[in-house]
Amino acid sequence: MSVEQFFNAESIEEVVDLLDQYKGDAKIIAGGTDLVIALNNKKISPKVLIDISKIEDLRKIEEKDGELIIGSAVSFTHLMDYIKGDNNLKGLYDAARSIGSPQIRNKGTLGGNIGHSSPAADSTPPLIALGAKLKIASKNGIREVLLEDYSAKKNGAGLQEDELILTIEFPKLRKNQFLTFSKLGLRKALAISRITTSAVIELDQNKNVIDVVMCSGSIGRYPMREPEVEEYLKGKILNEETIEGAVEVLIDSMDERLEGRSTLPYKRIAIESILKETLYSRLKFLSEV
Ligand SMILES: Cc1cc2nc3c(=O)[nH]c(=O)nc-3n(C[C@H](O)[C@H](O)[C@H](O)COP(=O)(O)OP(=O)(O)OC[C@H]3O[C@@H](n4cnc5c(N)ncnc54)[C@H](O)[C@@H]3O)c2cc1C
Repeated sequence: MSVEQFFNAESIEEVVDLLDQYKGDAKIIAGGTDLVIALNNKKISPKVLIDISKIEDLRKIEEKDGELIIGSAVSFTHLMDYIKGDNNLKGLYDAARSIGSPQIRNKGTLGGNIGHSSPAADSTPPLIALGAKLKIASKNGIREVLLEDYSAKKNGAGLQEDELILTIEFPKLRKNQFLTFSKLGLRKALAISRITTSAVIELDQNKNVIDVVMCSGSIGRYPMREPEVEEYLKGKILNEETIEGAVEVLIDSMDERLEGRSTLPYKRIAIESILKETLYSRLKFLSEV
């Protein structure tokens, strides 16, 4: 079955009405970098496509009440331009920069990366570490959900077929909180990530870990927080010894999670260098600021 109707939506209300009208027969298209491939491979066959890429309200980045509010149709290039030079958010910049090629980053959007719900979506781990929440609209109104819960599809937090992601929002970081991000294959422009780690790490002047929120990508069924690593690091001085310890803790959790999987031996080796890069880059920030 091929697409029968294409709507160039001009407003959020129009999208929500169309989604309600066509329900499972309709698909939202933003940059199209995932969706067009899925259409070509006949993985999906919607009758209706709703293009949201021209809706100005979804293409804005705003700061309000100490939060950064990113419209779902903001492209990676736009996001990178906005946060470039913000040391505290360097991890989000690095994650966006690691996605595809310049063409993919010009077209691909944050909402599309999240809407596609791939376990390897590169924007998700840093956004979870930042405590991001999504605003999601449908004919029934607007609901808010933590990206962490959305990612795990906890208590129905996943996207319903009549829903549109409006914004991705997170609190701005404090002066001594830094977001870091590491990805296997970061320098290979077109590599879709297999493994990532990202963390917001708050240190005092003695490199004591006051707080840490860490998220991994592709070492579980979905991008997820790593509470064992967080607990291990809190209150300790971040140094070579604790970084080695954190790696052991993460490998133990991963072993349990991926028991029996053929990819486990490879992931055990890869995660060591990825996590080390994430934690050492926090120390690098300390020496630079
Ligand atoms: C060559 C290539 C390299 C790539 N490299 C990477 C990479 O390194 N890392 C990575 O993470 N991804 C990568 N991708 C995947 C893709 O580019 C990203 O996932 C991108 O963010 C998708 O955004 P989009 O706007 O193109 O989404 P679309 O293709 O337009 O949509 C994707 C899905 O999300 C839904 N959707 C879109 N917007 C919304 C919304 N606002 N609300 C609800 N649902 C919505 C759509 O219905 C669809 O199901 C790559 C893709 C290609 C083709």
